[in-house]
Amino acid sequence: MDTEQPKLSVLAVDDEPMNLKLLDVLLKPLELNIEFAEDGTKGLELLEKNQYDLLLFDIMMPGIDGLELCKLARLNPQHKDVPVLILTAFGAKESLLKAFEAGAVDYITKPFYGPELVFRIKAQLKLRQLQRSMETFTNELNLQVLKAMKTERELLQSQQALSEANKTLVDWAHKDALTGLWNRRKAWDLMEYEAERSNRQKRSIGIAVMDLDKFKNVNDTLGHEVGDAVLKEAAAILSENLRKGDILARWGGEEFLLVFPETDLEGSFQAANKMRLALQEARWELPGLEGMTVSIGVTVKQPGETWTEAFKQADDALYRAKENGRNRVEVPLKGIPS
Ligand SMILES: [Mg+2]
Repeated sequence: MDTEQPKLSVLAVDDEPMNLKLLDVLLKPLELNIEFAEDGTKGLELLEKNQYDLLLFDIMMPGIDGLELCKLARLNPQHKDVPVLILTAFGAKESLLKAFEAGAVDYITKPFYGPELVFRIKAQLKLRQLQRSMETFTNELNLQVLKAMKTERELLQSQQALSEANKTLVDWAHKDALTGLWNRRKAWDLMEYEAERSNRQKRSIGIAVMDLDKFKNVNDTLGHEVGDAVLKEAAAILSENLRKGDILARWGGEEFLLVFPETDLEGSFQAANKMRLALQEARWELPGLEGMTVSIGVTVKQPGETWTEAFKQADDALYRAKENGRNRVEVPLKGIPS
């Protein structure tokens, strides 16, 4: 693994040229890039210019000494975590303590004892290598995490945009533009589905065909804008009173359709009558409009019957509701087989 690493670089600063020569010879087997400086000023220049993996500072130097250099290296972002080894005369304990306080990690006593020097330097370089691998690994990991977050966010955004676009498309195809209710085409789809379900389960489906009473008068006397507002408001009132699972659609001009799955005639009558009362009691805040009522024809489609038969019965019942004075719910005259 060591061979895969790039050469590590070391800066050695000592005011005695002999010490630098000695370091050069002793460290040769480690195959390092070593640069030398004979005073603190030169050392500082090199620290500004280059990136090192290990710093060797003589403690006693004229001008900028090893302690000062150590502190300055710690202030340099490029070298703040790079290990500093202090080169010191044997027994200079006091200055050594100061060097540790200044951020040095270890020391080597002079005169150099080759094997110890190599051992201490190798130990620090090993640590430095590990530290660098960790940095690379952490950076790479952070990068991957950021990339993943970005991708996920973008994916989510495009999914949302797509699903909204789809929803709009579906709405356009299936809903009545004025009232927002299902349109006739979608209502047929839903009824086909319910018919199959009811045939399988052998249960009846209720339907109610409803027509706003004297709606033509509204259009004629108050104008089409008020007429449209009435249709919208009526649709909203019907929607509010809709039972879960029931289907409400705009069936024609002022005609609405209700489908009550798994419901008998009595239940369908009640549900339709609730709608009638809701419309009758509604407060219409439209200029000139005193109130609206609705006439409703209700029937049930038994399993096996066709929708055509059921609609014939419901339309007949609606006709009688109108004939009998409007604002009423009527059911077929002949008994419904159960
Ligand atoms: Mg010296």
